[in-house]
Amino acid sequence: MSDRVYLDWNATTPLRDEARRATAAALDLPGNASSVHAEGREARKWIEGARSAVATAVGAQPRSVVFTSGGTEANALALAPGLRRDGGSAVERLIVSAVEHVSVLFGGRFSQTSIASIGVTRAGVVDLDHLRDLLRGGPPALVSIMLANNETGAIQPVEEAAAIVHEAGGVLHIDAVQALGKISFDMRGLGVDLLTVSAHKVGGPKGVGALVLSEGLSGPEPLLRGGGQELSRRAGTENVAGIAGFGAAAAAAMDCLPASTARIQTLRKQLENGLRQTRGTLIFSDSVQRLPNTTLFTVPGLRAETAVIGFDLAGIAVSSGSACSSGKVQPSHVLQAMGFDAEIAQGAVRLSMGWSTQDADIDSCLEAWRSLSGRLLKSQRRNTA
Ligand code: PLP
Repeated sequence: MSDRVYLDWNATTPLRDEARRATAAALDLPGNASSVHAEGREARKWIEGARSAVATAVGAQPRSVVFTSGGTEANALALAPGLRRDGGSAVERLIVSAVEHVSVLFGGRFSQTSIASIGVTRAGVVDLDHLRDLLRGGPPALVSIMLANNETGAIQPVEEAAAIVHEAGGVLHIDAVQALGKISFDMRGLGVDLLTVSAHKVGGPKGVGALVLSEGLSGPEPLLRGGGQELSRRAGTENVAGIAGFGAAAAAAMDCLPASTARIQTLRKQLENGLRQTRGTLIFSDSVQRLPNTTLFTVPGLRAETAVIGFDLAGIAVSSGSACSSGKVQPSHVLQAMGFDAEIAQGAVRLSMGWSTQDADIDSCLEAWRSLSGRLLKSQRRNTA
């Protein structure tokens, strides 16, 4: 696989060396972190070290971090009726943006009839006036908005949303899975109440994540009941190796964040300049603040699955912007929410970079695209002749 080019970092990232070392070391620990003996205390030490690292990465207190099996579980845990801020009322309904990850769109423990959707602009940014309208008059709401979108990379105005939600007596959860390690942010500065992160998007192992809770928040009720692990918020013997890897990856991501952001932004400029050489290229959300590593694009007539296969045959791993489950490519719900028709929403290709992406990778990707788009345009001319 060494001569392949990996441009699908928003799907998952390679394991960082720091995370590999921490995971391997923790795998060999014999103790259960709940045991009082030396072996147990050693396992506990690794978990608490990771908790501090994740807390530092998001700007929270270590005791606010609840480790889970990933971003999906953290989202499901967060979306719970009954949550309340200090002195506030319990939330009774859920409002989510229309461009959320599916694990949020399912609504956690809210019934489908108590979920409302906030619209987004053509550039994929949450419409705060619509949020205000939805909050007006109804019972207290939990609102869930992602910090950055996984398909377009569009960064959402979560700080403004927090002020609006709190003014209306609600609670704000943000899904920061795609933002961690790509942009710097601070949970307290943003003023949000709950925040989701996942290890495998920052160079940690797959199958571990965290929900981070603000001080003074009551709830959520645990999803998994049993032992008193994670301050009784998430039962089950901890995945010490995964958690240790998450902590090491989060710390490493924070260490290289400013330098890596600047470098990746330069690479993306090169990439997008090259893509724009093809007539009719549309780069989604390019008029708003985006994650520095993400480009979602299309050209007229492009079929995402054909392009993904074409790139793959040329040795480049990319993904379609649209959801692909059970082998069937669905139009992207994100692009449809942005007002694009099903044809365009089915034709978007996502290129996403990471810390080891090099100039040569961008060159190879553009070379593959020139050949693919040339063939595509030729066959379109044939079909219209
Ligand atoms: N939220 C967002 C925005 C994501 O992109 C993903 C994964 O793609 C998730 C949540 C789910 O995280 P996990 O894969 O750790 O369950």
